[in-house]
Formats: sequence, structure tokens, C-alpha cells
Amino acid sequence: MGKRILVTGGAGFLGSHLSEKLLKQGHDVVCLDNFFTGNKRNIRHLFEYDRFELVRHDVTEPILLEVDQIYNLACPASPIHYQYNPVKTTKTSVMGAINVLGLAKRVKARVLQASTSEVYGDPLVHPQQEGYWGHVNPIGIRSCYDEGKRVAETLFFDYHRQNKVDIRVIRIFNTYGPRMHPNDGRVVSNFIVQALRNEDITIYGDGSQTRSFCYVDDLLDGMNLLMNTDGITGPMNIGNPNEFTIKQLAEAVIRITGSKSKIVAMPLPSDDPKQRQPDITMAKQELGWEPKIQLEQGLMKTINYFSGLMESEPEIFEEIR
Ligand code: NAD
Ligand code: UDP
Repeated sequence: MGKRILVTGGAGFLGSHLSEKLLKQGHDVVCLDNFFTGNKRNIRHLFEYDRFELVRHDVTEPILLEVDQIYNLACPASPIHYQYNPVKTTKTSVMGAINVLGLAKRVKARVLQASTSEVYGDPLVHPQQEGYWGHVNPIGIRSCYDEGKRVAETLFFDYHRQNKVDIRVIRIFNTYGPRMHPNDGRVVSNFIVQALRNEDITIYGDGSQTRSFCYVDDLLDGMNLLMNTDGITGPMNIGNPNEFTIKQLAEAVIRITGSKSKIVAMPLPSDDPKQRQPDITMAKQELGWEPKIQLEQGLMKTINYFSGLMESEPEIFEEIR
């Protein structure tokens, strides 16, 4: 039978895809969002389902709802967005976690926290395993996000130990795909939009820093499996272990788009992690999950989405970040 599921941050990039997946599985979905980085455009097609509801609400405030499961995704994810109001970013992670955990405790719902590879900071262990405690600057410009997410994990495990709340913690590594905001400043969307416009591709630093990019469909399969597997809590890495330098990513985007763009160097922001690659042994063993879509194929799907959007809704590209 279908469950009633709350998705906080449901109007964002991942939240909108997740809401759609859950509706297709036959569940009722309550999408909660304050529209800071999310958008009604991402979810307007979901209103064709009677089982879809939208609540405009801020997770820093408590909310009373009757639900069976909660996916807590509410939090700006791109550096320009989470650094725009850093105090609010920490509040969103910390108070948001307290509020969804309180709700889960009251209604006995299972609750999943969208944590991040950023809990490992600028990692000294490579690839990153879940047992690694990380290397995070507590007072830098990324700290509002990194430390907020770390405290959220602490709260999840303390509610689990203290109040027996049924928790799941997923550590998401760089995920990309259709419905990323073209101006959110993340590397995949930036490079694709720049390439499609034949504008300079902006590499921060020398482009030797690495990331491992996971396509959205793979990520959501892993997240959904973690939520619905009994007897585990995580934290669990979900991501694609194929690692690329940022320069390699720029070259791939130029090649696939056939763009005339040139690569230009820009200053490297402080605390930018030098390397990032998930060790997904735990996900393979406990969920039987591994990603299926590799970078080339995922980039093609995302490039098709952005080039379609440029034709159909060019005004989105002018929206202020
Ligand atoms: P996103 O910015 O597209 O989505 C975040 C959503 O949360 C938006 O709809 C936004 O309006 C909403 N939101 C923000 N603050 C809120 C608040 N106080 N109350 C209610 N809603 C609020 O980002 P995304 O990429 O979809 O990320 C979703 C989640 O996954 C985030 O928690 C993020 O930290 C986590 N994550 C994402 C990635 C990634 O690569 N995409 C990597 C690691 C972790
Ligand atoms: N980056 C870049 N050019 C851009 C945007 C990002 O070189 O136009 C780099 C950024 O410095 C970082 C990497 O790409 O090293 C990934 O950045 P993103 O903001 O997507 O995610 P995060 O740093 O949080 O992993």
C-alpha cells in the first residue's frame, strides 16, 4: 500500500525528482519548500497527481503532519547559495533536523537525512570511507554548510540512540542532471551553460582538483533503497566512484557540445576540497547498489535538457542567482 511521504526541499533539484519517483511508485507525497533555491517550475507537472500536495513552509519552524516517511532535503546545496546567508544555512540544517526528528519521533515515521560528502571536508583519506571523520575547517566560508550538516548527523544519531527514532543518513557526492538551476554556480551546470553559449569556461584554480559525478537517477535509486532497507542507519556514501579533474570535465563538456568555448582560469575559492571520491563498498554490500550511468551519458542527457530549456524558457537563464 502507498505510504504518505514528506519531502522537505521537494521543489529543488533532487527533491523534485524524488517526489516524482515516489508518486510513480504509488505513494502520497507532501512536498515542503520555502522556495529559496527551489522553484514551482520544478514541480508544476506533479499536480496532475491527486496524491501530490505542496506546503510552503520553512524547516527552521516546527510543523505538524501525519506521515510514514520523511526525506529531509531542505538546504541550499550550491556554494553561492549556501554562502549567501550563512547563518540561515546553519539554522536550516540544525533546526531543520531538530524539527523533522521531532516530527518523526511523534508520528513514528522513518526519517532520512540528505547529508553530504562535505562532512569529509578537504579529505586527507582517499577515497572517502564512511568511517573517516573528515578534515573540516570550522570557521571558513564553507563551514556553515559543512558543520551544519555534521551537526545534523549528530542530531540524527542522538535521536536514534535516545528516542529510538528510525533514521537513515545518506552522504551524497556531487550529483547532477536535468533541473539543476542554470545559475546556481555548480560546476556541471556552469560548464554546460557556458559551452552552449560559446562563452569562456571558468575553471577555478588550475583545474587539477577532482570530483566524482553521479547522475541524478542513480543517486535517487540508492537513496530510495537506503530508505526502504530494514536494519541499517548509515551513514552511507552514495555517489559515482569514477573521479575526474575539473579540467577533464571542462574538456568533456566542450567535446560533447562541440562548443567554441575557451577554458579560462579564475581564482580558487578558499577551502575548496582538492579531491573527492566515494568508497561505495558499503552501498554495494548492504543495498546491492552501484551507479549505472557514466559521465559521458549523463552529461549528454543534462546537455539536452539545458539546450531545450534555452529554447523554451530563456528567461530562466537571466534569473538572478
Ligand atoms: P537545491 O538547492 O536544488 O534544493 C534544496 C531545496 O531546499 C530547495 O528547493 C530550497 O528552496 C529548499 N530549502 C532551502 N532552505 C529551506 C528551508 N529553510 N525551508 C524549506 N525549504 C528550504 O539542492 P539539491 O541539489 O536538490 O540538494 C538537495 C539536498 O541534497 C540538500 O540538502 C543538499 O545539501 C543535499 N546534497 C546535494 C548534493 C548534490 O550534489 N546535488 C550533494 C550533497 C548533498
Ligand atoms: N568550479 C569551477 N568552475 C566553476 C564552478 C566550480 O572550476 O564555474 C570548481 C569548484 O572550484 C570545485 C568544483 O568545481 O573545485 C566543484 O564545484 P561545485 O560548486 O559544483 O561543488 P563542490 O565544490 O561543493 O563540490
